[in-house]
Amino acid sequence: MTSKEIKIKSVLSVYRERDPLYGFRYVAEPYIGCSNSCLYCQASPKDETEKDIVQIRLNAAEVLSRQLVKRPREIVGVGRYCDPYMPLEKHYLITNNILQVLAVQGFPVHIITKSTLVQRDYQLFQEIGQKTMATITFEFAATTLELAKRLEPNSASPIKRLKAIHNLTSKGINCGIALNPVLPFIGDYQRGIKQLILAAKESGASYVLATPLVMKEKQAQKYFAFLEENHPGLLQPYRVLYGRSSNVPYWYWEPINEMIKSLAHEQGMIYEAPSWFELQEKQLTLF
Ligand code: SF4
Repeated sequence: MTSKEIKIKSVLSVYRERDPLYGFRYVAEPYIGCSNSCLYCQASPKDETEKDIVQIRLNAAEVLSRQLVKRPREIVGVGRYCDPYMPLEKHYLITNNILQVLAVQGFPVHIITKSTLVQRDYQLFQEIGQKTMATITFEFAATTLELAKRLEPNSASPIKRLKAIHNLTSKGINCGIALNPVLPFIGDYQRGIKQLILAAKESGASYVLATPLVMKEKQAQKYFAFLEENHPGLLQPYRVLYGRSSNVPYWYWEPINEMIKSLAHEQGMIYEAPSWFELQEKQLTLF
């Protein structure tokens, strides 16, 4: 994967409705593309020729600070379509600059990552958390180390992610986990999910999110090649699941979703993205 520096005119996407998994309406991405190269990644660029290039949005923070003026205060999601703490961030500090803008302008933030580099910015998260809300979601697709190595070769190991959760929550920063994506018949077993939720709870995480694998045409080829090599017996069940759509059918997801929800509740964790509005309402009722 290569990279190129670009200047942009706009960085803020405003969704009509809140993101169904992460709950935010604003998204500001520091990079386009992602060097983590997860096997199941659905975040592909519009232009196919750019698929192996990470674009570094050099002026993202400056543009964001202009675009947020007079906007209603809502959570800004960072990392929906890239890992904002991929190795390039060590040098470029684009995510760090975005956080500085959010801290100054008083906007809450929701970071999504698989990287331990996120710990570098803990003071900014503390500052934003004191003013509004800062939360960090660590994503997990695999419930075993072996599988994580195959599926997410360039990401921090799940153990390192759990340690990062521990370090951040010890500093008072809210963290949660997202089982994203839940891989049918591979990562959807109760035992593995229970162990992961327990480990996240012990590390201080307060919430769990989950969503099943989406199989878009472009990515399906890569994923089916992985199945053919490692789980040939699953090819047919996957064809049944994804035969008519890129999403799993309701009859598959509903019981898995209920199982994860009840495992999260058993641990006293919430099964939804933290909402800044609810937090505000709670604070208001205290006065
Ligand atoms: S970290 Fe997220 S955006 Fe990056 S390759 Fe993996 S799934 Fe795609």
